[in-house]
Formats: sequence, C-alpha cells, structure tokens
Amino acid sequence: MSDSTAKRKRILTGDRPTGKLHLGHYVGTLANRVRLQEEYDVFLLVADYHMLTTRSGKDHILDVARNARELVFDYLSVGINPEKTTIYVQSLVPEVAEIFLLFSMLVTVPRLQRVPTLKEVMHDLHIENPSAGLLIYPVLQAADILLVRADLVPVGKDQESHIEVCREIARRFNQLYGPVFPEAEGLIGDVATLVGTYGKAKMSKSLNNAIFLSDDEETVRKKVMKMYTDPTRLRATDPGNVKGNPVFTYHDAFNPDVDEVDDLKARYLKGTVGDVEVKKKLITAINNFLEPVRARRAEYTAKPGLIDDIIQHGTEVVTREGRETVGLMREAMGMTYFKK
Ligand code: ATP
Ligand code: MG
Repeated sequence: MSDSTAKRKRILTGDRPTGKLHLGHYVGTLANRVRLQEEYDVFLLVADYHMLTTRSGKDHILDVARNARELVFDYLSVGINPEKTTIYVQSLVPEVAEIFLLFSMLVTVPRLQRVPTLKEVMHDLHIENPSAGLLIYPVLQAADILLVRADLVPVGKDQESHIEVCREIARRFNQLYGPVFPEAEGLIGDVATLVGTYGKAKMSKSLNNAIFLSDDEETVRKKVMKMYTDPTRLRATDPGNVKGNPVFTYHDAFNPDVDEVDDLKARYLKGTVGDVEVKKKLITAINNFLEPVRARRAEYTAKPGLIDDIIQHGTEVVTREGRETVGLMREAMGMTYFKK
C-alpha cells in the first residue's frame, strides 16, 4: 500500500479562546502543530466549553467571538494551513455534548477526583468546591478526542492524566458495547517552557510578561528593552551570567545566527558587551522571526470573512464526524429504538 492510499493518523489539539497567543505558545505547541499537519490529519479545536470550566461569567463569554477569531488569525499567521488542519469551534458541534453525556456514565466520581490537574486548578484559582463541570472536564476532553476518533493527542506532561482517563473510557466503551474507539495516545512534548520577559515565571498572557505573535516591531522593541537580564551585573564591564538569563534564552530560541549568539555569550561572560547591544540584536532576531508571521496575518486580514468561512467549514466537517461517531455509538449500544 502506498503512502497516498494509507489512511493518515488523526491528531486532536486545541486552545481555549481566552486571548492572543505569544512566543511561549509558539515554542510550546504551535511550531509542533505546523510540523504535524504535514504528516497527520490535524483537528484543531477552539475550546469554548473548556473555557467555561473556569471562566463561566458572561463577560468571558462575550469575549469569545473576538478571542476565537484572534486565535485563528494567530494559527494561520504561523503557518497552520486550513487545507491541512481542520479548525472548528467546540460548542458549534452538538454531538460533543451528546458523546460527553454518554461517556459520563463510564467513569466514576472518585476516579475523576484523583486526576492531579483538578487539585492544581483548584489551588491556583482558589476554588474551594469545584463545579461538576470542572470535575468532569477530562470526560469532555475525551469526548473531543474520540468524536473525531483521534489516534494521537499532543499534550504537555501535565495533561498526561487526562489522556489516561480518555483511554480508560474508550476501553470501557469497547468492552461494554463493541469496538468503536481507538485508544488515543498522548504525544508528550519535551519542549522547555519559555520564560517571560521578566524572568522567573513562564511567559503567560495573564502575567503581563508576554511578547505576542501579533505585536508590531515597535512593541517588540519596547518589551525587549525592558527585559530582565542578569540582576547581579551592574556595569557592562562586569562579567555576567548567560545561563538562566532570559535575553539569552530568547536568543537561543529565535536567533538563527548561532555564531552571533555564541559571540555575544562569550563577550557577556567576559564583561565586554553591554545589555543594550545584546538586546538590540535580540530585537532584530525576534522581528525577523515575526516578519513572515506578520505578512501572513496581513494577507488574511485583507480578506474579510475568510476566518469565519474557515471556522464554518471546519465545524461542518467535524459535525459530520460527530454524527458518524454518535451513529456508531448508538448502534453499538443498541440505542436504536426509534428512527430519528
Ligand atoms: P493563561 O494566562 O490564560 O493561563 P497562558 O499564556 O499560560 O494563558 P495557556 O492557555 O495556559 O497559556 O497555555 C496553553 C498551552 O500553551 C499550554 O498547555 C502549553 O502547552 C503552551 N504554553 C503556554 N505558555 C507557554 C510557555 N511560556 N512556554 C511553552 N509553552 C507554553
Ligand atoms: Mg496558563
């Protein structure tokens, strides 16, 4: 069988529509997604139901339309190709909710209480009593994954436990009713987390320490000039630290000129280069990296309505998948009492 006739494996991945994407997202997930779409059928989910598990206020909901479009602009601008990647909005596919309901019967409450991310989210967001929705969130994720019958799910180490719940649900369903679902596997990334512009904390859209993919040249310049470097170094003639210095972390990630970076590092260690020169070269590197990203964004911005068409098309494709999956489930379960 030649490659072209072999069925490509499927991948599910996605983001909550809570704001613009930044360089951390690029390093952590986007670069990988751009690569994966060449080899797999990728389904990319705008996870608005997931957002509700921790942000259910109407103000958040009213922001979804704008955030979802921005998210899709970010995807396209880094090279996610809508011909290769199916982009869709979770809540527009009603079968997600139907599958979620059926799956919720196949997992126990204590099992979900043992998922480590639940405690983490409760701790981080100071939640004393989780909603049933937050508790059962891994089941919703299983519904997303298995609706498209995905084989692989790229996740960070922290989400491994959710994939395990998904596998257990698939196994349980197949045991009880017949083989409908693949046991999706996590594609665990080992990329380091990108630090924020002030060092220490990871780059995060809510910590005011992010360089966004949509930032213009001047904004990048200002953010880099304000970056933290080595706090123990007072003068440009003091020997400095390169390790753990965010400016050099970014040089390593975004400056393709390895010789320049090596030279800057060597001089920094000796105390023969100032922060300003290191930062100016970094500004150039990041702006060079963002140049094609900005060009693609401008192309898509010039075609009004295109984003909505892409979302609508992707949602239609996934709705068809959802109907098929629900059909297979009902058939296997014997829930075929009446014609719909
Ligand atoms: P929020 O402030 O709303 O938590 P965030 O900027 O931390 O937003 P998330 O939406 O929590 O971003 O992240 C989604 C995914 O993006 C993460 O699971 C991770 O894979 C990736 N990611 C986010 N920030 C970084 C980062 N700084 N470095 C590497 N990967 C990141
Ligand atoms: Mg976060």
